[in-house]
Amino acid sequence: MPKQRLVVIGNGMAGARLVEEVLAVGGAERFKIAIFSDEASGSYDRMQLADVMNGSQDESEIVLHDFAWYQDRQIQLNVGKRVLAVSRQARTVYGSAGAAEPYDQLVFATGSSPYFPPLEHLFDADGQRLAGVTGFRTLADCSAISALAAQAGRVVVIGGGLLALEAARGLAGNGREVHLIHSGPRLMSQQLDDYAAEHVRSLVEHAGIRVHLNRAVRALTGQRSVSGLVFSDGTVMDCELVVVSAGLIPNTWLAYQCGLTVERGIAVDSRLRSLDDANVHALGECAQLRDRIDGSADAIAEQARVLAARLLDGNSSMCYRGQSGVRMKVMGTNVAVLGSIHAGEARDQLIEYREPTRGQYRKVVLRERRVIGAILLGDVSAFPVLSAAFESNARLSECELAALLAPIEVKATDLPRVA
Ligand SMILES: Cc1cc2nc3c(=O)[nH]c(=O)nc-3n(C[C@H](O)[C@H](O)[C@H](O)COP(=O)(O)OP(=O)(O)OC[C@H]3O[C@@H](n4cnc5c(N)ncnc54)[C@H](O)[C@@H]3O)c2cc1C
Repeated sequence: MPKQRLVVIGNGMAGARLVEEVLAVGGAERFKIAIFSDEASGSYDRMQLADVMNGSQDESEIVLHDFAWYQDRQIQLNVGKRVLAVSRQARTVYGSAGAAEPYDQLVFATGSSPYFPPLEHLFDADGQRLAGVTGFRTLADCSAISALAAQAGRVVVIGGGLLALEAARGLAGNGREVHLIHSGPRLMSQQLDDYAAEHVRSLVEHAGIRVHLNRAVRALTGQRSVSGLVFSDGTVMDCELVVVSAGLIPNTWLAYQCGLTVERGIAVDSRLRSLDDANVHALGECAQLRDRIDGSADAIAEQARVLAARLLDGNSSMCYRGQSGVRMKVMGTNVAVLGSIHAGEARDQLIEYREPTRGQYRKVVLRERRVIGAILLGDVSAFPVLSAAFESNARLSECELAALLAPIEVKATDLPRVA
């Protein structure tokens, strides 16, 4: 039987992981695989970009698969080639430089792009974004930011979420003044409660980053290059580099252009199949299941497993049901968050364990002995157990409750060194 043609648009975490999973379930026998990526490199781990920026890792160390990996597996990797159009009628993908690739199965793994809020004077007189104002998402962004930062005395990161913190971490050090400006009252407000957010803030400040909360930026200044910013109260701050990390926009234009249903992301069902075409699928930060976009690493890994199984076996019963939790590395500290992190009803019970000196925090929200939410800082080893309890909605046994109440084990590496 001739091989089917599987075309994947995007070689970020979702595209790369999908291809791995397809190969793992014997997809090389079934599919001739082609990947389009508008980036110049093979796949790499975006979660370690800050380490590349601060020089603690080399670019080559965050590569997931180099060019040889694709070649060895006879995967056609089109790097530096942007897909410009898709014809679902002709079942063909059209890329830059005249590339045209027919498909039997098509996967959108186009991810997302940084959102730039409508700041006054974001653009110069020619409609170009001011030089020195950038997002933080790709290796190319990293190189651009590093080059600009080398010339800058003061740099500003706008945003208070994980990506903003990662940008600030990447920039800190080297005698540079780094300011993190966030319009909200606490950092990572979508994921953390007050205590955890305050702890994260102390980690950020410990790294020498100056944190400004409840401060909204209204405008930028400068002719061609940014020279400063203006807060909503009219005060100004000079700076030579502004990294904007104020949210993400899923890359859905291409899907929209070829007539797929797009809301915030490309609408898919629990098989990760588009709602409009049985041969077109989406996963990662461009895909929306019901009202959710799950772009965490764990969510993407699960989506890739489900989609690979479905591509190989149309009758597979595997489904993606959404991810209730997320694991992150925040300022070098492990953080895991699950479900609803605030006690919402009088019957809810909170289990909290704090050890600020060791940076340990565990909070579990229970409703009738069922886990409805949790935050773990530092030691996140309880996450799989909590996550399974959350998913199963089972009541915890006395033994499991006792384990949650027990102090967090001290590992040798946590102990203070004796001089
Ligand atoms: C700095 C940073 C730290 C993070 N830390 C964590 C963490 O600790 N834990 C966690 O769970 N998650 C974390 N994340 C989030 C996670 O990495 C992302 O959600 C994930 O990378 C999304 O993968 P994706 O493949 O969907 O999208 P992307 O990684 O954005 O990949 C999409 C790819 O498609 C390409 N593309 C788009 N359109 C086209 C086109 N038309 N033609 C060709 N190519 C195209 C893009 O250029 C890109 O290469 C972090 C993200 C960043 C940036």
